[in-house]
Amino acid sequence: MKRLNGIAASQGIAIGPAFVYRPEPLAFKEQIIQNPPAEINRLIQAVEAVQTMLIALEEYTQQAIGESEAKIFEVHRMFLADPAFADEIKAIIEQEKLNAEAAVDRVSTELMEQFSAIDDEYFRQRAVDIKDVAQRLIRQLLGLEETTLASLKFPSIIIANDLTPSDTASLNRDMALGLCTEIGSSTSHTAILARSLGTPAVVGIGKLEISSGTTVIIDGQSGELIIDPDAETLAEYQTRQQARQRIRSREIALAQQPAITTDGHQVEVVANIGSVVEAEQALKMGAEGVGLLRTEFLFLQGDTLPSEEEQYRIYRAIADVFQQLPLIVRTLDVGGDKDIPSIDLAVEQNPMLGQRAIRLCLARPEIFQTQLRAILRAGHERNVKIMFPLIGSEEELHQALEQLELAKADLRARNLPHAEKPDVGIMIEVPSAAVLADVLAPQVDFFSIGTNDLAQYTLAVDRTNETVAHLADPLHPAVIRLIHLVIQAAHRHNKWVGLCGEMAGSPQAVPLLLGLGLDEFSMAAASVPSVKALLRTLSKMQAQEIAQRCLELPSLQRVRDFLQNSPVSAAA
Ligand code: PEP
Ligand code: MG
Repeated sequence: MKRLNGIAASQGIAIGPAFVYRPEPLAFKEQIIQNPPAEINRLIQAVEAVQTMLIALEEYTQQAIGESEAKIFEVHRMFLADPAFADEIKAIIEQEKLNAEAAVDRVSTELMEQFSAIDDEYFRQRAVDIKDVAQRLIRQLLGLEETTLASLKFPSIIIANDLTPSDTASLNRDMALGLCTEIGSSTSHTAILARSLGTPAVVGIGKLEISSGTTVIIDGQSGELIIDPDAETLAEYQTRQQARQRIRSREIALAQQPAITTDGHQVEVVANIGSVVEAEQALKMGAEGVGLLRTEFLFLQGDTLPSEEEQYRIYRAIADVFQQLPLIVRTLDVGGDKDIPSIDLAVEQNPMLGQRAIRLCLARPEIFQTQLRAILRAGHERNVKIMFPLIGSEEELHQALEQLELAKADLRARNLPHAEKPDVGIMIEVPSAAVLADVLAPQVDFFSIGTNDLAQYTLAVDRTNETVAHLADPLHPAVIRLIHLVIQAAHRHNKWVGLCGEMAGSPQAVPLLLGLGLDEFSMAAASVPSVKALLRTLSKMQAQEIAQRCLELPSLQRVRDFLQNSPVSAAA
């Protein structure tokens, strides 16, 4: 048995076999072959093997997950069975005497390019499917094992160096009992994803030597990974896991009830989401709306930018899920650590201090305008609010507001129905904006504090640099004082304040934030039931005392110790 410590990234206990995910790039060369008929035979056999594999995956998915999820494999099988595809590959092998791997690669790349060029989400998705099938086929030709997360067939704990957005897009989510990564911080992509799925996770565990199939335990509370536990440890964790599941069931049963403190204050609990599926889950988990729609997800797929129509359709589908509940759509926040293939981002020395989020949108108004028009259209007769990320000055806010007016004028000219006066807010995630909160508050409808970035920029810590990321802790007294300042300034101007950084879903931070006067808590959907349950046990008056005490404490450690031992947290 071995115990390792990492960063607790998503609550819960997971016990199961490890699935070690170490994808290797498909390495093959273009080669001239001597015997084209033999090469064609090799191709035919590989196609048959992949067909068998796809049938198995389809059957398995149908039973374990659902009919509609299994459909994708049927599409892949049909594609592979299309004689036009195979004939083209065979022609290249025969005429150019090229090896099968290179021929498959060439034909599929050409097809993908053709499909990607069509301005329609359906065809773009087909390009992704072609890539999937082609990779599977090449892998088979090379005699390599399947290593995408989509091929995960047993409930397992995924162990990886890190997971990229494209890895997790193909993740068979029902098979992921837990996640553990060698690198990463509590605000890294894997951590945010794990929380949104409600999957226990530990990140930043360091280099791991472990093989697939080994039994492991993930403790998402303490940040521990236990490899090959002894019988006693296993039994202890199984008991803890069952107890947690009982509490969780009770919390979920009450999730649709409001979060009212013991002294009668109602607090809004909403979700951070990044897709239509997550919107539906959020509603089921009792979210009273969306405090942060991360629109980046739309820009991460494919090599071309999503059109106004595509964006509109997806924003509208999400707005339809929430009807009159608030849906705060954050405008594009890329750059920094979020690289996207469809925008040619400059290579920067300090990307976190570079052209990210609103700065990029203001520099590329065509991208910004398309998105603003789509959001405004989705907001017609819905409760859609617009939020600008990373605002650092009044000038930036003015420029963003001007862009919004331009987008409205355009829609008016085109006679397209849209929201004429949606609420507009800004994220407070740059210290300059926090300090200037009293200047900015009268000019917007709301603030939402982004503590992931506010901690990063206040404490001069790159949140993606695993050697220092743990220092970007929003419980640092400097960050707490800024949050206090922002809430006070907004309330003086009768504006409400939300918080959509990971801090809002942290049980330790909730009493403090309630006491500071936060109006809206926005978090991963899976955390909504437990945070609502916690808020119902708190009194606002008691929370105010906690907040007052934290504002006087000099160091992060003292704040942590105090919150750990405060009577409210103990009760929770
Ligand atoms: C934040 O910075 O707190 C935030 C919610 O935005 P993101 O994590 O997407 O940068
Ligand atoms: Mg941010």
